[in-house]
Amino acid sequence: MVSTGEGENRGGNGAEKRRVILPSASSEQKALGLAYPGDPTAQRELLTWAGGLDEEEFIRLTQPVVLMEMMSLRGRSANQAISSTEVTSFAINIPNLPGRNHRLVTLPTACKYAACTICDYCSKGKREITGRDIDRADIDRAIEIVRKDNDFYLEDGEYHRQHPEDNVVLIDITAGGSIFNSREVPDEIRQYLWKKIAEYGKEQKAKGRYVAFVTETRVDDLSETTLKEMFAALEGGVDEVEVGYGLERIDPLGQKIMMNKMMPPDWEERVKLLKNPEINRGIDVVGAAHVMLTVPGETDAEGVEYASQSIRELIDKGLCDTVVLMATNKKAATVPGVIESELPSIFTLAETLKRLRELGERAGNPDKYLREVLVRGFAGIAEEIAPEKVKYMKAGCNACRPVEELLKDWRPEDYSKLIELISQTNCQDKADWEAEILQEPQYSRQQRIALILDYLAKTYWKMSLKDAVEAFGDINLHPQFKNE
Ligand code: SF4
Ligand SMILES: [Zn+2]
Repeated sequence: MVSTGEGENRGGNGAEKRRVILPSASSEQKALGLAYPGDPTAQRELLTWAGGLDEEEFIRLTQPVVLMEMMSLRGRSANQAISSTEVTSFAINIPNLPGRNHRLVTLPTACKYAACTICDYCSKGKREITGRDIDRADIDRAIEIVRKDNDFYLEDGEYHRQHPEDNVVLIDITAGGSIFNSREVPDEIRQYLWKKIAEYGKEQKAKGRYVAFVTETRVDDLSETTLKEMFAALEGGVDEVEVGYGLERIDPLGQKIMMNKMMPPDWEERVKLLKNPEINRGIDVVGAAHVMLTVPGETDAEGVEYASQSIRELIDKGLCDTVVLMATNKKAATVPGVIESELPSIFTLAETLKRLRELGERAGNPDKYLREVLVRGFAGIAEEIAPEKVKYMKAGCNACRPVEELLKDWRPEDYSKLIELISQTNCQDKADWEAEILQEPQYSRQQRIALILDYLAKTYWKMSLKDAVEAFGDINLHPQFKNE
Protein backbone atom coordinates (compact mmCIF):
# COMPACT_ATOMS: atom_id res chain seq x y z
CA MET A 1 0.00 0.00 0.00
CA VAL A 2 1.17 3.50 -0.65
CA SER A 3 0.20 6.13 1.84
CA THR A 4 -0.49 8.69 -0.82
CA GLY A 5 -3.45 6.72 -2.02
CA GLU A 6 -1.99 6.93 -5.50
CA GLY A 7 -0.31 4.22 -7.47
CA GLU A 8 -1.36 0.67 -7.76
CA ASN A 9 -4.96 1.20 -6.83
CA ARG A 10 -5.51 3.65 -9.58
CA GLY A 11 -5.63 1.23 -12.48
CA GLY A 12 -9.40 1.28 -12.34
CA ASN A 13 -9.75 -2.16 -13.88
CA GLY A 14 -9.99 -3.93 -10.58
CA ALA A 15 -6.74 -5.75 -11.23
CA GLU A 16 -5.35 -7.42 -8.18
CA LYS A 17 -2.50 -5.83 -6.41
CA ARG A 18 0.71 -7.68 -7.12
CA ARG A 19 3.65 -7.84 -4.85
CA VAL A 20 7.11 -7.14 -6.00
CA ILE A 21 8.88 -10.40 -6.64
CA LEU A 22 11.07 -10.69 -3.63
CA PRO A 23 10.55 -14.14 -2.24
CA SER A 24 11.74 -15.16 1.19
CA ALA A 25 13.99 -12.29 2.10
CA SER A 26 11.90 -10.48 4.65
CA SER A 27 14.55 -7.90 5.45
CA GLU A 28 14.73 -7.21 1.77
CA GLN A 29 10.99 -6.83 1.54
CA LYS A 30 11.14 -4.66 4.59
CA ALA A 31 13.63 -2.41 2.87
CA LEU A 32 11.44 -2.11 -0.18
CA GLY A 33 8.07 -1.91 1.40
CA LEU A 34 5.75 -4.84 1.09
CA ALA A 35 3.50 -4.18 -1.81
CA TYR A 36 4.45 -3.21 -5.31
CA PRO A 37 2.45 -3.02 -8.45
CA GLY A 38 3.92 -4.22 -11.65
CA ASP A 39 4.46 -6.72 -14.30
CA PRO A 40 6.95 -9.41 -13.27
CA THR A 41 8.58 -9.52 -16.71
CA ALA A 42 9.16 -5.78 -16.74
CA GLN A 43 10.54 -5.99 -13.25
CA ARG A 44 12.94 -8.73 -14.26
CA GLU A 45 14.15 -6.60 -17.13
CA LEU A 46 14.58 -3.67 -14.80
CA LEU A 47 16.59 -5.78 -12.37
CA THR A 48 18.82 -7.01 -15.16
CA TRP A 49 19.35 -3.46 -16.40
CA ALA A 50 20.09 -2.07 -12.92
CA GLY A 51 22.30 -5.03 -12.04
CA GLY A 52 24.36 -4.60 -15.20
CA LEU A 53 25.33 -0.96 -14.70
CA ASP A 54 28.41 0.04 -12.81
CA GLU A 55 27.66 2.21 -9.81
CA GLU A 56 28.93 5.46 -11.25
CA GLU A 57 26.79 5.05 -14.34
CA PHE A 58 23.76 4.07 -12.30
CA ILE A 59 24.15 7.20 -10.16
CA ARG A 60 24.62 9.42 -13.18
CA LEU A 61 21.47 8.06 -14.83
CA THR A 62 19.20 7.99 -11.83
CA GLN A 63 20.16 11.14 -9.94
CA PRO A 64 17.90 13.43 -12.01
CA VAL A 65 15.06 10.93 -11.62
CA VAL A 66 15.25 10.67 -7.86
CA LEU A 67 15.33 14.45 -7.62
CA MET A 68 12.23 14.84 -9.77
CA GLU A 69 10.53 12.04 -7.89
CA MET A 70 11.13 13.83 -4.61
CA MET A 71 9.50 16.94 -6.06
CA SER A 72 6.43 14.89 -6.95
CA LEU A 73 6.43 12.98 -3.71
CA ARG A 74 6.64 16.03 -1.53
CA GLY A 75 4.03 17.81 -3.56
CA ARG A 76 1.56 14.96 -3.17
CA SER A 77 2.12 14.62 0.53
CA ALA A 78 2.04 18.32 1.19
CA ASN A 79 -0.61 18.28 3.84
CA GLN A 80 1.43 15.95 6.00
CA ALA A 81 4.69 17.86 5.75
CA ILE A 82 6.11 19.76 8.66
CA SER A 83 5.76 23.48 8.45
CA SER A 84 5.68 26.13 11.05
CA THR A 85 4.88 29.79 11.01
CA GLU A 86 6.26 30.46 14.47
CA VAL A 87 9.59 30.03 16.19
CA THR A 88 9.28 26.57 17.73
CA SER A 89 11.31 24.65 20.25
CA PHE A 90 11.46 21.30 21.91
CA ALA A 91 13.56 19.76 24.64
CA ILE A 92 16.23 17.15 24.04
CA ASN A 93 17.86 15.19 26.81
CA ILE A 94 21.61 15.41 27.30
CA PRO A 95 22.92 11.92 28.10
CA ASN A 96 25.93 13.09 30.12
CA LEU A 97 23.98 15.67 32.09
CA PRO A 98 21.12 13.63 33.59
CA GLY A 99 18.19 15.79 34.53
CA ARG A 100 19.10 18.52 32.13
CA ASN A 101 17.51 19.00 28.74
CA HIS A 102 18.43 21.51 26.17
CA ARG A 103 16.07 23.34 23.96
CA LEU A 104 16.40 23.13 20.23
CA VAL A 105 14.92 26.31 18.78
CA THR A 106 13.88 26.28 15.13
CA LEU A 107 13.26 29.40 13.09
CA PRO A 108 10.14 29.19 10.90
CA THR A 109 12.01 29.05 7.61
CA ALA A 110 11.79 26.39 4.92
CA CYS A 111 14.63 24.26 3.65
CA LYS A 112 15.41 25.52 0.13
CA TYR A 113 16.56 22.10 -0.96
CA ALA A 114 13.64 20.11 0.43
CA ALA A 115 14.43 16.96 -1.49
CA CYS A 116 16.19 14.44 0.76
CA THR A 117 14.35 11.13 0.59
CA ILE A 118 13.99 10.75 4.35
CA CYS A 119 12.94 14.24 5.31
CA ASP A 120 9.64 16.03 4.98
CA TYR A 121 10.74 19.37 6.32
CA CYS A 122 9.15 22.34 4.72
CA SER A 123 7.76 20.79 1.61
CA LYS A 124 4.53 21.70 -0.01
CA GLY A 125 3.57 21.63 -3.63
CA LYS A 126 6.04 20.82 -6.31
CA ARG A 127 8.31 23.81 -5.91
CA GLU A 128 6.24 25.76 -3.47
CA ILE A 129 7.70 25.75 -0.07
CA THR A 130 6.19 26.47 3.29
CA GLY A 131 7.79 28.50 6.01
CA ARG A 132 7.95 32.27 5.91
CA ASP A 133 10.39 35.14 5.72
CA ILE A 134 11.87 35.83 9.09
CA ASP A 135 12.69 39.13 10.70
CA ARG A 136 14.55 40.45 13.71
CA ALA A 137 11.58 39.80 15.99
CA ASP A 138 11.96 36.05 15.28
CA ILE A 139 15.59 36.19 16.33
CA ASP A 140 14.66 38.07 19.51
CA ARG A 141 12.04 35.42 20.23
CA ALA A 142 14.59 32.62 19.70
CA ILE A 143 17.04 34.26 22.09
CA GLU A 144 14.26 34.74 24.64
CA ILE A 145 13.46 31.01 24.54
CA VAL A 146 17.14 30.13 24.92
CA ARG A 147 17.55 32.53 27.84
CA LYS A 148 14.50 31.22 29.65
CA ASP A 149 15.66 27.64 29.24
CA ASN A 150 19.19 28.28 30.47
CA ASP A 151 17.88 30.30 33.41
CA PHE A 152 15.65 27.40 34.33
CA TYR A 153 18.60 25.03 34.62
CA LEU A 154 21.31 27.38 35.80
CA GLU A 155 19.48 29.71 38.16
CA ASP A 156 16.08 28.51 39.34
CA GLY A 157 14.73 25.05 39.75
CA GLU A 158 15.53 21.70 41.23
CA TYR A 159 18.24 20.84 38.72
CA HIS A 160 20.31 23.86 39.76
CA ARG A 161 20.02 22.91 43.44
CA GLN A 162 21.31 19.44 42.61
CA HIS A 163 23.97 20.53 40.09
CA PRO A 164 25.23 23.93 41.16
CA GLU A 165 28.47 23.11 39.32
CA ASP A 166 26.80 23.00 35.90
CA ASN A 167 27.65 26.28 34.20
CA VAL A 168 27.06 25.45 30.55
CA VAL A 169 24.90 27.83 28.57
CA LEU A 170 23.46 26.15 25.49
CA ILE A 171 22.27 28.20 22.57
CA ASP A 172 20.82 25.80 20.02
CA ILE A 173 19.20 27.69 17.18
CA THR A 174 18.59 26.19 13.76
CA ALA A 175 16.69 27.11 10.63
CA GLY A 176 14.09 24.77 9.07
CA GLY A 177 16.82 23.54 6.71
CA SER A 178 20.14 25.34 6.75
CA ILE A 179 21.26 28.32 8.85
CA PHE A 180 23.91 29.48 6.36
CA ASN A 181 21.63 29.45 3.34
CA SER A 182 21.04 33.04 2.30
CA ARG A 183 17.77 32.34 0.56
CA GLU A 184 16.50 30.77 3.73
CA VAL A 185 18.05 33.08 6.32
CA PRO A 186 18.80 36.46 4.72
CA ASP A 187 22.34 37.68 5.40
CA GLU A 188 21.15 40.69 7.33
CA ILE A 189 19.03 38.53 9.65
CA ARG A 190 21.87 36.06 10.12
CA GLN A 191 24.18 38.93 11.08
CA TYR A 192 21.59 40.05 13.60
CA LEU A 193 21.42 36.52 14.99
CA TRP A 194 25.20 36.43 15.46
CA LYS A 195 25.07 39.81 17.17
CA LYS A 196 22.35 38.71 19.59
CA ILE A 197 24.12 35.45 20.38
CA ALA A 198 27.36 37.30 21.05
CA GLU A 199 25.60 39.79 23.32
CA TYR A 200 23.87 37.09 25.29
CA GLY A 201 27.02 34.99 25.40
CA LYS A 202 29.17 37.83 26.67
CA GLU A 203 26.68 38.54 29.41
CA GLN A 204 26.73 34.86 30.43
CA LYS A 205 30.49 34.57 30.23
CA ALA A 206 30.75 37.53 32.56
CA LYS A 207 28.99 35.28 35.09
CA GLY A 208 31.75 32.71 34.65
CA ARG A 209 29.74 30.44 32.40
CA TYR A 210 30.81 28.34 29.44
CA VAL A 211 28.83 29.24 26.34
CA ALA A 212 28.17 26.77 23.52
CA PHE A 213 26.34 27.67 20.35
CA VAL A 214 24.82 24.81 18.36
CA THR A 215 23.36 24.99 14.86
CA GLU A 216 22.82 23.02 11.64
CA THR A 217 23.54 23.55 7.99
CA ARG A 218 23.64 21.88 4.63
CA VAL A 219 27.20 21.26 3.56
CA ASP A 220 26.76 23.26 0.32
CA ASP A 221 26.12 26.35 2.43
CA LEU A 222 29.43 26.14 4.28
CA SER A 223 31.71 28.76 2.77
CA GLU A 224 34.71 30.69 3.88
CA THR A 225 32.81 33.99 3.78
CA THR A 226 29.81 32.92 5.86
CA LEU A 227 31.95 31.11 8.40
CA LYS A 228 34.42 33.98 8.75
CA GLU A 229 31.52 36.33 9.34
CA MET A 230 30.08 34.10 12.02
CA PHE A 231 33.29 33.49 13.92
CA ALA A 232 34.24 37.16 13.79
CA ALA A 233 30.86 38.14 15.20
CA LEU A 234 30.85 35.45 17.88
CA GLU A 235 34.42 35.97 19.04
CA GLY A 236 34.49 36.70 22.76
CA GLY A 237 30.84 35.68 23.12
CA VAL A 238 31.03 31.92 22.80
CA ASP A 239 33.49 29.25 23.88
CA GLU A 240 32.35 26.58 21.50
CA VAL A 241 30.43 26.29 18.26
CA GLU A 242 28.89 23.01 17.19
CA VAL A 243 27.77 22.75 13.59
CA GLY A 244 25.63 19.81 12.56
CA TYR A 245 25.48 18.69 8.91
CA GLY A 246 23.60 15.85 7.32
CA LEU A 247 25.91 13.58 5.36
CA GLU A 248 23.79 10.51 6.12
CA ARG A 249 26.18 8.19 4.33
CA ILE A 250 29.57 8.51 2.82
CA ASP A 251 29.18 5.91 0.07
CA PRO A 252 27.97 7.52 -3.18
CA LEU A 253 24.99 5.25 -3.82
CA GLY A 254 23.68 5.66 -0.27
CA GLN A 255 24.28 9.37 -0.14
CA LYS A 256 23.40 10.52 -3.63
CA ILE A 257 20.59 8.21 -4.62
CA MET A 258 19.08 6.51 -1.61
CA MET A 259 19.18 9.77 0.33
CA ASN A 260 19.18 12.18 -2.66
CA LYS A 261 21.56 14.30 -0.66
CA MET A 262 23.16 16.10 -3.62
CA MET A 263 26.48 16.97 -2.04
CA PRO A 264 28.73 19.46 -3.78
CA PRO A 265 31.84 17.79 -5.24
CA ASP A 266 34.08 19.72 -2.82
CA TRP A 267 32.06 18.82 0.26
CA GLU A 268 35.01 17.46 2.21
CA GLU A 269 36.92 20.74 1.80
CA ARG A 270 33.84 22.66 2.87
CA VAL A 271 33.48 20.61 6.04
CA LYS A 272 37.15 21.13 6.82
CA LEU A 273 36.71 24.91 6.71
CA LEU A 274 35.15 24.63 10.15
CA LYS A 275 38.43 23.48 11.61
CA ASN A 276 40.61 26.05 9.88
CA PRO A 277 42.07 28.27 12.64
CA GLU A 278 42.28 31.21 10.26
CA ILE A 279 38.53 30.96 9.92
CA ASN A 280 37.38 29.95 13.37
CA ARG A 281 39.64 32.37 15.26
CA GLY A 282 40.56 29.73 17.76
CA ILE A 283 36.98 29.13 18.91
CA ASP A 284 36.48 25.46 19.71
CA VAL A 285 34.54 23.88 16.89
CA VAL A 286 32.65 20.61 17.00
CA GLY A 287 31.65 19.21 13.64
CA ALA A 288 28.64 16.94 14.12
CA ALA A 289 27.91 14.72 11.13
CA HIS A 290 24.43 13.26 10.92
CA VAL A 291 24.41 9.65 9.77
CA MET A 292 21.33 7.58 9.00
CA LEU A 293 21.10 4.05 10.26
CA THR A 294 18.79 2.85 7.54
CA VAL A 295 18.15 4.44 4.20
CA PRO A 296 15.44 3.51 1.71
CA GLY A 297 16.05 0.25 -0.11
CA GLU A 298 18.52 -1.13 2.36
CA THR A 299 18.24 -4.22 4.52
CA ASP A 300 18.99 -3.89 8.23
CA ALA A 301 22.22 -5.86 7.75
CA GLU A 302 23.36 -3.37 5.12
CA GLY A 303 22.28 -0.49 7.34
CA VAL A 304 24.56 -1.77 10.09
CA GLU A 305 27.44 -2.18 7.67
CA TYR A 306 27.18 1.05 5.69
CA ALA A 307 26.32 3.27 8.65
CA SER A 308 29.23 1.98 10.73
CA GLN A 309 31.65 2.18 7.80
CA SER A 310 30.50 5.74 7.12
CA ILE A 311 31.08 6.68 10.76
CA ARG A 312 34.53 5.12 10.74
CA GLU A 313 35.56 6.89 7.56
CA LEU A 314 34.21 10.27 8.68
CA ILE A 315 36.13 10.09 11.93
CA ASP A 316 39.31 8.71 10.35
CA LYS A 317 39.30 11.45 7.70
CA GLY A 318 38.72 14.19 10.25
CA LEU A 319 35.40 15.09 8.66
CA CYS A 320 33.61 15.29 11.99
CA ASP A 321 34.25 15.21 15.71
CA THR A 322 31.01 13.60 16.65
CA VAL A 323 28.27 11.66 14.88
CA VAL A 324 24.57 11.97 15.41
CA LEU A 325 23.22 8.55 14.49
CA MET A 326 19.59 8.72 13.48
CA ALA A 327 16.90 6.48 12.10
CA THR A 328 14.63 7.21 9.19
CA ASN A 329 10.96 7.52 9.90
CA LYS A 330 7.83 6.91 7.95
CA LYS A 331 6.34 10.32 7.53
CA ALA A 332 4.13 10.72 4.48
CA ALA A 333 6.36 13.07 2.49
CA THR A 334 9.31 10.69 2.64
CA VAL A 335 10.28 7.67 0.55
CA PRO A 336 10.10 5.29 3.55
CA GLY A 337 6.59 6.64 4.21
CA VAL A 338 5.45 6.15 0.61
CA ILE A 339 6.84 2.68 0.12
CA GLU A 340 5.76 1.72 3.60
CA SER A 341 9.05 0.12 4.44
CA GLU A 342 9.24 -1.22 7.95
CA LEU A 343 11.01 0.51 10.77
CA PRO A 344 14.35 -0.89 11.87
CA SER A 345 14.57 -3.00 14.98
CA ILE A 346 16.24 -1.87 18.20
CA PHE A 347 18.60 -4.82 17.67
CA THR A 348 19.78 -3.22 14.43
CA LEU A 349 20.79 -0.13 16.37
CA ALA A 350 22.47 -2.29 19.02
CA GLU A 351 24.29 -4.24 16.31
CA THR A 352 25.59 -1.00 14.79
CA LEU A 353 27.03 0.00 18.14
CA LYS A 354 28.64 -3.44 18.39
CA ARG A 355 30.12 -3.05 14.93
CA LEU A 356 31.55 0.35 15.87
CA ARG A 357 33.18 -1.22 18.89
CA GLU A 358 34.70 -3.93 16.67
CA LEU A 359 36.00 -1.34 14.21
CA GLY A 360 37.56 0.50 17.15
CA GLU A 361 39.16 -2.70 18.42
CA ARG A 362 40.65 -3.31 15.00
CA ALA A 363 42.07 0.21 15.05
CA GLY A 364 43.65 -0.50 18.45
CA ASN A 365 41.24 1.69 20.42
CA PRO A 366 37.88 0.06 21.23
CA ASP A 367 36.14 3.34 22.01
CA LYS A 368 37.54 5.27 19.08
CA TYR A 369 34.29 5.41 17.13
CA LEU A 370 31.77 4.40 19.74
CA ARG A 371 32.50 7.28 22.08
CA GLU A 372 31.80 9.83 19.36
CA VAL A 373 28.36 8.54 18.54
CA LEU A 374 25.29 10.24 19.86
CA VAL A 375 22.11 8.28 19.32
CA ARG A 376 19.14 10.42 18.41
CA GLY A 377 15.61 9.96 17.30
CA PHE A 378 15.12 6.31 18.09
CA ALA A 379 12.37 4.44 19.86
CA GLY A 380 10.23 6.27 22.39
CA ILE A 381 12.60 9.17 22.56
CA ALA A 382 11.38 10.36 19.20
CA GLU A 383 7.85 10.56 20.44
CA GLU A 384 8.91 12.74 23.30
CA ILE A 385 11.01 15.13 21.32
CA ALA A 386 9.54 15.29 17.84
CA PRO A 387 7.14 18.12 17.20
CA GLU A 388 4.70 15.58 15.89
CA LYS A 389 4.22 11.99 16.92
CA VAL A 390 6.30 9.77 14.71
CA LYS A 391 7.73 6.38 15.35
CA TYR A 392 11.29 5.70 14.26
CA MET A 393 11.92 2.18 15.58
CA LYS A 394 9.84 -0.92 15.84
CA ALA A 395 8.56 -1.17 19.38
CA GLY A 396 9.80 -4.15 21.34
CA CYS A 397 7.96 -6.42 23.77
CA ASN A 398 8.30 -6.38 27.56
CA ALA A 399 11.27 -8.73 27.39
CA CYS A 400 13.37 -6.51 25.11
CA ARG A 401 12.19 -3.21 26.53
CA PRO A 402 15.26 -2.89 28.81
CA VAL A 403 17.44 -2.88 25.69
CA GLU A 404 15.22 -0.20 24.18
CA GLU A 405 15.35 1.84 27.37
CA LEU A 406 19.13 1.68 27.48
CA LEU A 407 19.37 2.77 23.85
CA LYS A 408 17.01 5.67 24.42
CA ASP A 409 19.52 7.31 26.71
CA TRP A 410 22.54 5.74 25.09
CA ARG A 411 25.94 6.53 26.58
CA PRO A 412 29.08 4.76 25.35
CA GLU A 413 29.89 3.83 28.98
CA ASP A 414 26.88 1.53 28.85
CA TYR A 415 28.40 -0.72 26.23
CA SER A 416 29.00 -3.73 28.52
CA LYS A 417 25.55 -3.31 29.98
CA LEU A 418 24.08 -3.37 26.47
CA ILE A 419 25.88 -6.60 25.61
CA GLU A 420 24.75 -8.14 28.87
CA LEU A 421 21.14 -7.09 28.41
CA ILE A 422 21.07 -8.45 24.87
CA SER A 423 22.48 -11.78 25.96
CA GLN A 424 19.81 -12.01 28.66
CA THR A 425 17.00 -11.18 26.26
CA ASN A 426 15.09 -14.08 24.83
CA CYS A 427 12.05 -13.00 22.94
CA GLN A 428 10.44 -13.44 19.57
CA ASP A 429 11.61 -10.00 18.40
CA LYS A 430 15.20 -10.98 18.97
CA ALA A 431 14.76 -14.42 17.37
CA ASP A 432 13.09 -12.89 14.31
CA TRP A 433 15.79 -10.27 14.04
CA GLU A 434 18.58 -12.84 14.28
CA ALA A 435 17.00 -14.96 11.57
CA GLU A 436 16.44 -11.99 9.33
CA ILE A 437 19.82 -10.34 9.64
CA LEU A 438 21.50 -13.52 8.37
CA GLN A 439 19.48 -13.69 5.19
CA GLU A 440 21.40 -12.99 2.03
CA PRO A 441 19.47 -10.50 -0.05
CA GLN A 442 18.44 -11.75 -3.44
CA TYR A 443 19.13 -8.43 -5.16
CA SER A 444 21.87 -5.87 -4.86
CA ARG A 445 21.28 -2.50 -3.23
CA GLN A 446 21.43 -0.97 -6.69
CA GLN A 447 18.73 -3.30 -7.96
CA ARG A 448 16.53 -2.63 -4.99
CA ILE A 449 16.85 1.13 -5.28
CA ALA A 450 16.00 0.73 -8.97
CA LEU A 451 12.79 -1.04 -7.99
CA ILE A 452 11.87 1.80 -5.68
CA LEU A 453 12.65 4.48 -8.26
CA ASP A 454 10.67 2.51 -10.83
CA TYR A 455 7.77 2.25 -8.44
CA LEU A 456 7.79 5.99 -7.79
CA ALA A 457 8.07 6.80 -11.50
CA LYS A 458 5.04 4.63 -12.19
CA THR A 459 3.15 6.09 -9.27
CA TYR A 460 3.73 9.71 -10.17
CA TRP A 461 4.18 9.74 -13.90
CA LYS A 462 2.95 6.37 -15.10
CA MET A 463 6.30 5.62 -16.67
CA SER A 464 9.03 3.14 -15.96
CA LEU A 465 12.37 4.09 -14.45
CA LYS A 466 14.05 3.57 -17.80
CA ASP A 467 11.59 5.95 -19.47
CA ALA A 468 12.12 8.43 -16.66
CA VAL A 469 15.88 8.25 -17.21
CA GLU A 470 15.23 9.12 -20.86
CA ALA A 471 12.86 11.93 -19.93
CA PHE A 472 14.92 13.59 -17.22
CA GLY A 473 18.44 12.50 -18.05
CA ASP A 474 19.31 15.85 -19.57
CA ILE A 475 18.20 18.15 -16.80
CA ASN A 476 20.98 20.06 -15.19
CA LEU A 477 20.79 19.21 -11.53
CA HIS A 478 22.70 22.00 -10.00
CA PRO A 479 21.52 25.46 -11.06
CA GLN A 480 18.21 25.22 -9.27
CA PHE A 481 19.96 24.57 -6.01
CA LYS A 482 22.57 27.26 -6.25
CA ASN A 483 22.67 29.31 -3.11
CA GLU A 484 22.92 32.68 -4.78
S1 SF4 B 1 18.62 19.43 3.58
FE1 SF4 B 1 17.95 18.84 5.64
S2 SF4 B 1 15.99 19.92 5.98
FE2 SF4 B 1 16.46 20.00 3.78
S3 SF4 B 1 15.37 18.22 2.92
FE3 SF4 B 1 17.45 17.54 3.37
S4 SF4 B 1 17.37 16.67 5.45
FE4 SF4 B 1 15.52 17.91 5.14
ZN1 LIG C 1 10.96 -8.46 22.40
